[in-house]
Amino acid sequence: MRVAFSPVYRYRLPPGHRFPMDKYTLLPEQLLYEGTVTEQQFFTAEPLTEEAILRTHTAAYWTKLRDNTLTRKEARAIGFPMRPDLVARGRVIAQGTLECARFAFRDGVALNIAGGTHHAFADHGEGFCVFNDIAIAANELLHTGEVERVLIVDLDVHQGNGTASLFAQEPRVFTFSMHGARNYPARKERSDLDIGLPDQTGDEVYLDTLRRHLPGLLDGVQPDLVFYLSGVDVLATDKLGRLSMTLQGCKERDRFVLESCHRRNLPVAIAMGGGYSDRLATIIEAHANTYRVAAGLYD
Ligand SMILES: [Zn+2]
Repeated sequence: MRVAFSPVYRYRLPPGHRFPMDKYTLLPEQLLYEGTVTEQQFFTAEPLTEEAILRTHTAAYWTKLRDNTLTRKEARAIGFPMRPDLVARGRVIAQGTLECARFAFRDGVALNIAGGTHHAFADHGEGFCVFNDIAIAANELLHTGEVERVLIVDLDVHQGNGTASLFAQEPRVFTFSMHGARNYPARKERSDLDIGLPDQTGDEVYLDTLRRHLPGLLDGVQPDLVFYLSGVDVLATDKLGRLSMTLQGCKERDRFVLESCHRRNLPVAIAMGGGYSDRLATIIEAHANTYRVAAGLYD
């Protein structure tokens, strides 16, 4: 089981910024410390090529990113201060997700310590997302012929609006988003399957809903590869989410997704997505659970 990571994942932010950037160094440290992942399992991807970027994003958007000429309004929608190292970081993360897919073909599963930046559209970024890593990886694999059909299982609490929009006209990619109906984005895009959950949906209803839909999707879509976006902003402690799940429920969610793929021999590439609990330790614990479940199933 390989894990994509680079120290550049942790982007330097002004003090008091609400994004918990430290998770990108604390999560790998925790995984190493407890022995869930060994040093040898980590890898750092090269920066994504321009060619691959342009298979998903528009030339106009890419040029503005490259030249650091986004307008103030465009930068504000992304929510991070724009510096060249943010763009460089995004390229390493996106390539990491692509490489995870390739490792998953061999090993069954691979995980990226970051990624899952599903609010990035073809021509703009928003909600802490610059590049849409999963869309980029899916488009690249379709282009090279490494896959013919892809299923994206997006269980971050926020709708995968960028991903839905990017693949609205792409029948080879099935987009499934299960999210808080009243969460950001206020204006939802249309995924191939959207399930909007009410506020305070707890573990039981959440897991029942997932169990009702996921197996049929895996069997119906018959993808060559699954991308799983395992955002942990579904937790009750999350400042942005509204779904009231427990750590245990969130882990059960991961277990159900991974067991369902494992049983069907479907390779799965996992990107972390969001997590905004007050305590960083809670965020790390929830993300670490995804790795623990994966390591238990695949090793
Ligand atoms: Zn989210």
